Amino acid sequence: MEYTITTNNLKTLINGLIEGHTVYAPKRVGATTVLYETIASFDEYDSTVLLANTSAKGKIYPQCEKLFEFAKTIDGVELKECEQIKESVIFGCRPCDAIGFSLLDKLFNWEEYRDESYFSRRDKTTIISISCTNPESTCFCNSFENGGSAGKAGSDLLLTPIGDRYLVEIITEKGQKIIEGSKYFEPATEKDVASKQGVEQAANEKMTKQLELNEIKKNLDNAFESPYWDTVHLPCLKCNVCTFVCPTCYCFDISECPSGYAEGERNRTWDSCMSEPFTRMAGGVNPRSDPKRRFRQRFMHKFRYHVDNFNEHLCTGCGRCIKYCPVGIDIRRVLEGVR
Ligand code: SF4
Ligand code: SF4
Repeated sequence: MEYTITTNNLKTLINGLIEGHTVYAPKRVGATTVLYETIASFDEYDSTVLLANTSAKGKIYPQCEKLFEFAKTIDGVELKECEQIKESVIFGCRPCDAIGFSLLDKLFNWEEYRDESYFSRRDKTTIISISCTNPESTCFCNSFENGGSAGKAGSDLLLTPIGDRYLVEIITEKGQKIIEGSKYFEPATEKDVASKQGVEQAANEKMTKQLELNEIKKNLDNAFESPYWDTVHLPCLKCNVCTFVCPTCYCFDISECPSGYAEGERNRTWDSCMSEPFTRMAGGVNPRSDPKRRFRQRFMHKFRYHVDNFNEHLCTGCGRCIKYCPVGIDIRRVLEGVR
């Protein structure tokens, strides 16, 4: 069942949630920088930008996190778990960022291994997304089956602006809990639902560039040794920006930092397949020492290997890697150029 909420009531709802939760939302932190940050009131939410500079990924999978502390004792080694995570809300998430979480959920939850650190935050976070009405030229989320300006995967509630109100769709039980007992939501009428569909269609039509994903996959299947890679990577600085702003890149490094003679902490930090030391092994051997191989890996992983393993792409079409690449490398052009 769909509901509606007025802009004023949404403001009151979010201010109420702030009292019992950590609420993250796009927040202006510099003249040209908007990041998902903790907000102390709804007024700190910046609704004017389409996308924050980095994705919401870091609120559940932090760029740098302490996994545990350890100390050597007479009997062995003692481990101390990190402090408990508070219930959180990511408000104003865009569908392309929320879909990123639905992809990460599978990567951090294998039969043999469930990443407790990731799920300690994921399970306690409710994601309230807002559909996009005005996509940018770098957006191509409508290329993906579960994508588009109002894609639902990964969100708990999806809000779509319809005039001075929002059409509210409940996606999960966590989303249902926000609605339950709240006086701010009104059942939507057929007209409201039709308005939402119109807004969604108009936004998707503004995205003029759509990728032929099946064709790209077939081309990549035959392109590992192609001379195409010898030159296409040359402008790339291997700066890692594309992977750090991406809602789906998940490579990490583990390090142990001593804090005393026999104690310390184990940390996890994001890493990048574009970085030379990422695949360097003990003894100095590195299967991807050549920048060409690292560049190729990023495209092969997202659009070939991940499709073979999970039957979906490791990309949501957010376009941040295009927007923030210092030398203007466009993932869409690289993929289309493989043919
Ligand atoms: S952001 Fe651009 S230059 Fe930097 S590593 Fe990615 S593709 Fe290369
Ligand atoms: S690869 Fe680029 S377009 Fe795709 S999700 Fe990552 S940052 Fe967005």
